[in-house]
Parts: sequence; structure tokens; C-alpha cells
Amino acid sequence: MEALDGRTAIVTGGGGGIGGAAARALALKGAAVAVVDLRVVEAEASAESIRAAGGRAIALGCDVTDPRQVADAFDSAERELGLPDILFNNAGIVGPGATAPDTPLEEFDRCVAVNLRAPFICAAECIRRLRAAKKPGVIVNTASVNATFAEPGFPAYVATKGAITALTRALALDHAREGIRVNCVCPGYVDTEMTRPLFDAGPAGVMATAEMHAVGRVAKPEEIAEVVAFLCSDAASFMAGAAVMVDGGMSIGAQVLPTPDANAQQG
Ligand code: NDP
Repeated sequence: MEALDGRTAIVTGGGGGIGGAAARALALKGAAVAVVDLRVVEAEASAESIRAAGGRAIALGCDVTDPRQVADAFDSAERELGLPDILFNNAGIVGPGATAPDTPLEEFDRCVAVNLRAPFICAAECIRRLRAAKKPGVIVNTASVNATFAEPGFPAYVATKGAITALTRALALDHAREGIRVNCVCPGYVDTEMTRPLFDAGPAGVMATAEMHAVGRVAKPEEIAEVVAFLCSDAASFMAGAAVMVDGGMSIGAQVLPTPDANAQQG
């Protein structure tokens, strides 16, 4: 008997990166998984990797900013896998890499649409259905270490991720007594398509990014996925509204630690 046997999960942005790893982690714990992504080919590959390992999964192409497409995706998941009682609200984009005066408003709006409005739409859809069925459920949102630790040049991204931690608390407060737990993860840098440009820029970029974390490296998607799977399980039954840092110590100030000097006096 696995922890998530009999459960159905919707994973947005499940075509790769953190979402792909979470889809596999949830399936390994017994959940049937609907992999939702704009990228249908990648979503199908993700679902196929789960089926190949003996799990149950389907792929659903969907733009999560569109409420109609989200409702259709929930319909398909429910029809083929059962009522979704786990939502990993994870699809996101970096958005404009510019300071406020240089950010085109339409790019700001797109960032808000994908990173904040879409998780709101998906959560509302999930809760509506759970409530109608009088069933408990779990929602995990993906925020970021940037929710509390701003980095220069990405005000839109930083603002949306901060808002996700606030939305997580608001949803948790409103729905905990219906048996719906809502929490979020706040990852540090993770090696995914999203951060690829950073790593493709060469060893200096990789080193500088790694050094921002106390552990001296970036995360593998699986290291975030394990925490997500835990939050989705009954082992996290007393957690509601939490923003769980999974950031390799990035937010604790490691980036200002002096480089250890072998000749320095000890003691
Ligand atoms: P990836 O880009 O690897 O995966 C995200 C997936 O979501 C992509 O396939 C993307 O498609 C898809 N997507 C984007 N917009 C939509 C949409 N409107 N509807 C459906 N799917 C969509 O990203 P990561 O795995 O790195 O990131 C996942 C989440 O984790 C994001 O919310 C991100 O902000 C957050 N995060 C990531 C960190 C990192 O270092 N990687 C650190 C902290 C948080 P497409 O590629 O076409 O946009």
C-alpha cells in the first residue's frame, strides 16, 4: 500500500522540470496523474515515463490561464482517472527580465496571468469539485525563494511569487475546515529548462548561481518533487498555509559567507 493509492493528481507544468519530477514522485507513491502542460509532446513524454514504470498517467494539453481549458482538463482527468483530489499548481514563467520602468506592461500582465491568476483559476476549479463531492483534498502551489528574497531585474516574477505565498495562506484559511489543505514550496535555483539560459552562459554563471546557496549547488528537480509529494501525503496532515523553503539555504544569507581560507587561523 503506497501513501497516495487511490488518489488522482493534476500537475500543471508537468511536461518537464519540477512538474515532471513531481508527476513521477506522486505516481511512485500511488497517485494516478494527469500531466497538464502547454507543451503537449513533453506532457505526453512525462505521462509515458510514468506508465512505463507501471503507474497510471494521462497527458492533457492546456493553457492554465484559460478557465475553459482548465475546466476541460479537470473533466478529462476526472473521467479517465477519477476526481482530482491533489493539485500541484506549478506551471510558471520567468517573465520579463527588466526593472519596472523598462518592463512592457503586457509582459507584466502575462507574468501575472501565468504565475498568479492561473493558480487561482486551477485552485478554484479543484475546490469547487471537491466541495460538490464532499471530498477532502490537497493543493500545493509553487512559489519561489524569490517570494521573500528579491533578486535584481525581475520585479514581475518576484511580485507574483510573493503573492503565491499570500494566496496559499488565504486558501488554506478558507478551506482547511473543508478538509482541503493548501501549502506551497519555495525552491531555490533548480536545474530545469527555465534556468537553462543561465547555465548555458558558461561555468562562471553556474558557479555564481551555485554559490548563492549554502549547500554550494543548485537543486535537481527531484529534490523539490520529494517535498511536494510529502506535502500531498497524509504525513503532512497538520500543515496548512505553509511556505516551505526548499532552497539549499539560499535565503539564510549563505551568499555573503566569506570563502573559507585554508591559511586562516582556526578557533
Ligand atoms: P519549466 O519551464 O522547466 O517547466 C514549466 C512548464 O510549464 C513548461 O513546460 C512551460 O511551458 C509550462 N507552462 C508555462 N506556461 C503555461 C501555461 N500557461 N499553461 C500550461 N503550462 C504552462 O520550469 P520549472 O520546472 O523550472 O518551474 C516550475 C515552477 O517552479 C514555476 O512556477 C517556476 O516559477 C518555479 N520555480 C522554478 C525555479 C527554478 O530554478 N527552476 C526556482 C523557483 C521556482 P513553456 O516552456 O512553453 O513556457
